[in-house]
Amino acid sequence: MEYLKLVGLYEELSKTTKKLEKAHILAEFIKNLKLNEIDDIMCLITASIFPLYDKRKIGFSDRLVLKAINKSSGIKTEDIEKLWSKLGGLGDVAEKLLEGKHQKTLSSESLTIKKVLENLRKLAELEGQGTVDKKVNLISELLANAKPNEAKFILRTVLGELRVGIAEGIIKDALAEAYDLDPNSIKKAMDLALDYSDIISLAKEGTILEAKIKVGRPLKVMLAILALDIDEGFEALGLPLQLEYKLDGFRVTIHRKGNEIKLFTRKLEEVSKQFPDVIEAVKKYVKGDDFILDGEVVAFDHKSGKYLPFQVISQRIRRKYDILESVKKFPVELNLFDILYYEGKNYMDSAFKERRELLTKIINEKPGIIKLTSHLVTDDLTKAKEFYHDALSKGLEGIMLKNLNSPYKPGRYVNGWMKLKPVLEPLDLVIVSAEYGEGKRASWLTSFTIACNTKEGLKEIGKVSTGVKEKDFEVTYSSLTKLLKPLIISQEGKAVKLKPKIIIEVGYEEIQISKNYDSGFALRFPKFMRLRNLEKNIKDINTIEDVKRIYDQQKGKNN
Ligand code: AMP
Repeated sequence: MEYLKLVGLYEELSKTTKKLEKAHILAEFIKNLKLNEIDDIMCLITASIFPLYDKRKIGFSDRLVLKAINKSSGIKTEDIEKLWSKLGGLGDVAEKLLEGKHQKTLSSESLTIKKVLENLRKLAELEGQGTVDKKVNLISELLANAKPNEAKFILRTVLGELRVGIAEGIIKDALAEAYDLDPNSIKKAMDLALDYSDIISLAKEGTILEAKIKVGRPLKVMLAILALDIDEGFEALGLPLQLEYKLDGFRVTIHRKGNEIKLFTRKLEEVSKQFPDVIEAVKKYVKGDDFILDGEVVAFDHKSGKYLPFQVISQRIRRKYDILESVKKFPVELNLFDILYYEGKNYMDSAFKERRELLTKIINEKPGIIKLTSHLVTDDLTKAKEFYHDALSKGLEGIMLKNLNSPYKPGRYVNGWMKLKPVLEPLDLVIVSAEYGEGKRASWLTSFTIACNTKEGLKEIGKVSTGVKEKDFEVTYSSLTKLLKPLIISQEGKAVKLKPKIIIEVGYEEIQISKNYDSGFALRFPKFMRLRNLEKNIKDINTIEDVKRIYDQQKGKNN
């Protein structure tokens, strides 16, 4: 298929911000494709270049793109940079430049999807000397044959940001519409991280979906929702429940098929080579030779018998050479907490307590090498609190709370797992802009950009959209919208700029360095806690210095 056809789809998708419309446009496009064409198209539409289970990266930076534009157009780097700061994206720059060179490109061959993907995928394979030039050549070759709009999207793909607003939910809805399938079956198949053609065929078969787990191919892991305290977990998850230590290592799923054992991270990257010790432990101490296990690998100090923080183990994840030396230097303990598949049977739909029972049967624990996560099954709040404090006093991150009857569901689910850890002090921040919601929330402002104080004025630090209730609470979307509407300075689409008046208290899990906001920081998982207007003036809100202080504290804690 010609790449230009796909570019037509991108352009159509860019014309609307409505998710439903996007899903419909995508559905119309894929409905006419052959099943075997879909995989390549999806690799491009998601800008991932590779299938869901293949996490190779193409490693291309803005600088390399600049070089490629320079090479294919002959235009000086300074001039490209000037246009870049004017247009904001390098894809747009290439489009503009090529528009000026129309005749030349008309004579060249037209680009196919196959050719574009072929060159992009080669980028991931290059290593060693001369890599930079080879990478630049691969892209400039494409640009030399590209029409202006093709060039724009090739470069956006290379930089991993298509800006056509396609997220997983839209793909799911589009597949459902195109093939007349149940969106839930598609979601399940997508969680197994297969090829899209497999996802479609599987979703067509409906119920036998679960039987299709492939040992050796990574799948998405189950995650937890944040609990503010143990009581919340007790209420949400049913009693008794299982508490476990929350360890600060890295998540690993372990696949064994015969003699082959593979380890994957939560982002589906394979790390088998880096952890021969973990593989050895699995071989020696786990019964069976056909299974998928889930757990956490934690750095472990044999002398003190204590766990070490994530930073220690991260050195092993990145290590490419001298693996054996790093195995000795940074020993690890494998803590297992779940099992998804065993000897031909898929256990993802079995209750958690059954899975844990099976796990207990097949693991021969060797403290310091391999064990089941420390746990407590209880319905007693006092005992649960003791368990939590015990975990914290051992220097652990916190605890997990798990519903004993829950299936294993990839992603974050209500009624499945919750995590509890000490929260950092909340911040008082002011709302500077907001966005109207979608669907039944279209008349409410539902997403709020928040800012802190700095010497140069207010600077943004994140967007809050959770924590506000829909009805029957003191602060609802509707009441907040009422407060904010008189403060609107301007509106563009669904986004409104606001006079900074409304101060809110915001909870969050972590502060990160970020380019997305002009403060240079971003709050991870920000959550609206309460209105602060009665007590506070703008000059009293938290400052960038406060943010830096908490950031440093949190870094210290992690070290
Ligand atoms: P978070 O990254 O804060 O969302 O917490 C989820 C992560 O906690 C998981 O991806 C695991 O890596 C980690 N974790 C540590 N201990 C456990 C445990 N006992 N059960 C499940 N996940 C755990």
